[in-house]
Amino acid sequence: MTPAGSLLVAEDLHKAYGPTPALDGASFSIHPGEVVAVMGPSGSGKSTLLHCLAGIVRPDAGTITYGGRDLTAMPDSARSALRRSEYGFVFQFGQLVPELTCTENVALPLRLNGTRRKEAERAAQQWMERLEISDVGQKRPGEVSGGQGQRVAVARALVTSPRVLFADEPTGALDSLNGERVMQLLTDAARDTNAAVVLVTHEARVAAYSDREVIVRDGKLRDMAGVA
Ligand code: ADP
Repeated sequence: MTPAGSLLVAEDLHKAYGPTPALDGASFSIHPGEVVAVMGPSGSGKSTLLHCLAGIVRPDAGTITYGGRDLTAMPDSARSALRRSEYGFVFQFGQLVPELTCTENVALPLRLNGTRRKEAERAAQQWMERLEISDVGQKRPGEVSGGQGQRVAVARALVTSPRVLFADEPTGALDSLNGERVMQLLTDAARDTNAAVVLVTHEARVAAYSDREVIVRDGKLRDMAGVA
């Protein structure tokens, strides 16, 4: 049964890589505007879960529904289109395009969706202002600090107004002060736009920015609500 009001729901996911089970009956759901931290030891299946939810990896069994549509039954082209229009991604290392300026990096997803250059750059600048990085707009990623680069990556993920933001260890390469600032800006922006955030982290300090924590262990999920 699908939990009422959920935007993205995974039920009883199984995924194995050869003899290694990465997910072994994992279920998960998230509401619009909710920030959920996915925690657990290394190798427990966190990234595999995120990649399944994002439609990058197809589970061996189980269902994933986004807005009532079954992701597991969609052809690859439809899943890519959904990823481009509805999802945003932030990774541990920003993965910015080194040849482009920071503004061009933020504008890139809009440009790829067919938005005209002026309009895309205007939207990019608004997000960069919000993330307090307007001053690095004309610089290239190699010329900015790690914290600034990661804010550029967050702005790029948010510029298309995604309904779900997937963040895989988004502060893993930052010092604690910069990490906390990025988390504050990211979660404030997501809550304001009512985007759901799936936040993979192994740090309690990062998970503290979430509304709810789930723990992945041996390919299964446990909700921390009510656990002493
Ligand atoms: P986590 O993100 O919690 O560190 P992962 O989802 O990356 O965990 O990995 C879960 C398990 O699946 C681990 O045993 C890992 O070695 C294995 N695994 C993940 N991705 C692959 C892959 N592409 N090929 C083979 N094994 C993989």
